[in-house]
Amino acid sequence: MNAVTGFGRPSAFVETVPSRVDAYIAAHDFAHPTLVVDIDAVERQFRALSAGLGRAHIHYAVKANPHPAIIERLVRLGSGFDAASRGEIELVLSQGADPAHVSFGNTIKKASDIRFAHHVGVTIFAADAEEELEKIAENAPGAQVYIRVIVDNPEADWPLSRKFGCASDKVMALLQRTRELGLVPHGLSFHVGSQTREARMWTGTLDQVAAIWHRAQDEGFDLQLLNIGGGFPAFYGEAIQAPTAYAQAVMALIADRFGDVPQIMAEPGRGMVAEAGAIAAEVVLVSKKSEADLHRWVYLDIGRFSGLAETEGEAIRYQFATAHDGQPTGPCVLAGPSCDSADVLYEKRPIQLPVGLRAGDRIVIRNCGAYTSTYSSVGFNGFPPLETIVI
Ligand SMILES: *Cc1c(COP(=O)(O)O)cnc(C)c1O
Repeated sequence: MNAVTGFGRPSAFVETVPSRVDAYIAAHDFAHPTLVVDIDAVERQFRALSAGLGRAHIHYAVKANPHPAIIERLVRLGSGFDAASRGEIELVLSQGADPAHVSFGNTIKKASDIRFAHHVGVTIFAADAEEELEKIAENAPGAQVYIRVIVDNPEADWPLSRKFGCASDKVMALLQRTRELGLVPHGLSFHVGSQTREARMWTGTLDQVAAIWHRAQDEGFDLQLLNIGGGFPAFYGEAIQAPTAYAQAVMALIADRFGDVPQIMAEPGRGMVAEAGAIAAEVVLVSKKSEADLHRWVYLDIGRFSGLAETEGEAIRYQFATAHDGQPTGPCVLAGPSCDSADVLYEKRPIQLPVGLRAGDRIVIRNCGAYTSTYSSVGFNGFPPLETIVI
């Protein structure tokens, strides 16, 4: 079970498959779909990203995969954390994180959560609106604030909407308001869009943010922090740059545009954990809707609601491995097991799977360590949430 079906793939990928995960999955039976994560692969990725990021400090985006063993390992490696809620802050502190290395990066925070964060020693908060600044001033007086900027990100595979950030014409007013409220206007943040496959795709975003950064400096804001967010890619079938080279290239683009920024923070989520994990799943049914159909429908015991939410819009295209790999393949529509018609993973662009695939067969979904366990519903249709095993 070591070939990947479908899409031509660069041979370099073979080395990046964490073989401990393959071995573990091959040696075990699973009653339900199970994500298996190689914790040492996470460590290797942290080191590879750190090497490329140089003096930029990593704040792992906890939502990508909050398994306590992952957090604990990253604490030991010296990572900081980007937390989005009280629950994530409690989690990272319970695993030994220093609150000075935890940023509360969600721009939509409950006042009670801000108060909690302040109480436990978190000092840095994101904001993109006046009312958010007022909440921070009241519940975390004197805190450091970075303003999140909206950027156009047409090049990411999983672009972020306009839900987060403010347009450039609001940034100066918000920095000013930050100061008036007795908070520290500490810096700017942005997110280039998740799964930005190549470093050169950061160029347009960095140009936009640098213009705002320099204007703020000109207007007398002594900004200290540039938070470059996430966007670091994982392999889903299309070539990506290796993590160190990618991070180095991004840092070079930043140096060209920003000059000497005192403090740079990076918040990889997907790029830290995706390739460290694979899901062991099972084929539940293979069928054709009519005798004349060229496509088979393949139904798995995992779907949109049990971990594979990022197949929405068929944006993220996972890689599949089966015991029949090497056989001839044919086009398949891939669907999940729930009684919801939205639970179809790939239909517009069907995937190639071996013709011998049958109900009961094991199917391994590669590079699934990010945004799977966290997107899994609790008991929809009686299917349990995705289990995670860290090895
Ligand atoms: C989700 C998120 C990230 C991580 O993004 P990836 O593309 O997974 O690296 C980083 N920063 C913030 C503020 C986020 O919300």
